[in-house]
Amino acid sequence: MNTTKNQPYRPQTLAVRCGQHRTAEGEHSEALFLTSSFVFESAQQAAARFADEEPGNIYSRFANPTVSVFQERLAALEGAESCVATASGMAAILSLALTVLSAGDHVILSNALFGSTITIFRQILVRFGITFDVVSQTSTAAWRAAVKSNTKLLFAESPSNPLTEIADLAALAQIAHSAGALLAVDNTFCTPILQQPLQLGADVVIHSATKFLDGQGRCLGGAVLGSQELVGESVFKVLRNSGPCMSPFNAWVFIKGLETLTVRLQAACANALKLAQWLEQHPGVARVYYPGLQSHPQYALAGRQQSGAGSMLSFDIHGGKAVAWRLLNSLKLLSLTANLGDTKTTITHPSSTTHARWSEEDRQAAGIGQSLLRISLGLEDQLDLREDLDAGFQAAIG
Ligand SMILES: *Cc1c(COP(=O)(O)O)cnc(C)c1O
Repeated sequence: MNTTKNQPYRPQTLAVRCGQHRTAEGEHSEALFLTSSFVFESAQQAAARFADEEPGNIYSRFANPTVSVFQERLAALEGAESCVATASGMAAILSLALTVLSAGDHVILSNALFGSTITIFRQILVRFGITFDVVSQTSTAAWRAAVKSNTKLLFAESPSNPLTEIADLAALAQIAHSAGALLAVDNTFCTPILQQPLQLGADVVIHSATKFLDGQGRCLGGAVLGSQELVGESVFKVLRNSGPCMSPFNAWVFIKGLETLTVRLQAACANALKLAQWLEQHPGVARVYYPGLQSHPQYALAGRQQSGAGSMLSFDIHGGKAVAWRLLNSLKLLSLTANLGDTKTTITHPSSTTHARWSEEDRQAAGIGQSLLRISLGLEDQLDLREDLDAGFQAAIG
């Protein structure tokens, strides 16, 4: 069966079937083409392929059939004309920047972006004459006010990590387009199952496939999605020449991850909502950040923009770093690890790990205090998670 994105299948069918082009061997599961290059039948064919006169495989930095299945499948789910797979989420963001930005250009970044995304701009791209401003994720007025005549790109990530702040993506798309700029959205946390930024007006979607698309914490990967012209031609050209491409082995793992993405996310979202409600009632907890709770400042916006509230939440405990660390150190079930989007529930203390390089002043301004813990819900039994956390609270508060 050759399912292409043009066929009228529904998303869950596309997640399982799209992009598979069965070989003459008749394999049922997608084939893994673990090969760096491809053989030509003749010198004439080699020349024709290199001259772009004949379609076909050449070398896996340019294209690989297993990577192509992943690209077609993810493009179908995001409703994108084109998808280019990358070695990691950061490779996707760097490839996009190298494609659309030049010396003298200006970028507007959300203050709630993934740490390395801001670091790329602050420490690397700035050396190439690209300037940027950082604005509040949730203040549409701040984004509008930051626009300059040379603004080329707006970059948001919604919901944010760790505070689950929601950006109004349709409003940001309007601001970008009236300035002649592009809106890029990092959709790692929602995935296309919960949010489709291109349908809200964004021009580019970024993924760290490392998280929910894999879903079991095995491989690093990323993707850039958008129009054929921007992604299929321009980003692809940068990537095929500069090389941060996805390994076919990793692509194969992500293909299988996409097949179960919907059911995994639905179950993890349900687990997250229950845990968020339980934490909100817990005497050891001062505040819970989860877009599925009515207490969340952008509860209504999240409800309009997303079809589910996600599987990531954060909470402030009563007490500071010492209490937070005692709680973490006494957990037996939740994994203390930096990854998220795994079937195994993970927990981190952002201010001493993912956000440790920020100044205390910047952390305070962003609301990421010493009492904050972040959980990415997996698929364990809800009651086992609660019992582990409850024991942690008791050990921490003493
Ligand atoms: C992890 C992550 C990235 C970076 O992805 P890697 O695959 O680790 O390079 C980018 N954005 C978000 C939102 C992430 O969570």
